[in-house]
Amino acid sequence: MSELQQETEYSDDYEEYEDCEQPHDEIVRAKWIMDGATTLAEAADQVRAFANELQELHDEGYVFTQPVADDYGFYVKPGTKCAACGYVAGLESDGALEGV
Ligand SMILES: [Zn+2]
Repeated sequence: MSELQQETEYSDDYEEYEDCEQPHDEIVRAKWIMDGATTLAEAADQVRAFANELQELHDEGYVFTQPVADDYGFYVKPGTKCAACGYVAGLESDGALEGV
């Protein structure tokens, strides 16, 4: 029993955050942005609207936590603190946000 407690005590912060039920990042996907368009012009409008949303997120200070891969873009606003677990976005030590 005491060994178990010790293990819990030494579990790193990352695992602690992993258990948090609050989402720590947002996901943006581009796969369906043209869906529903009936004309090429409509598709163009939808793509432009999507692009504007991305630009707005950028302008508000959001950053990707890693390069977009397979249509999944994970983004956070650095410095945002999770009310549930205290996780602060953008402080990963893997250097993903380096150069932002
Ligand atoms: Zn959390």
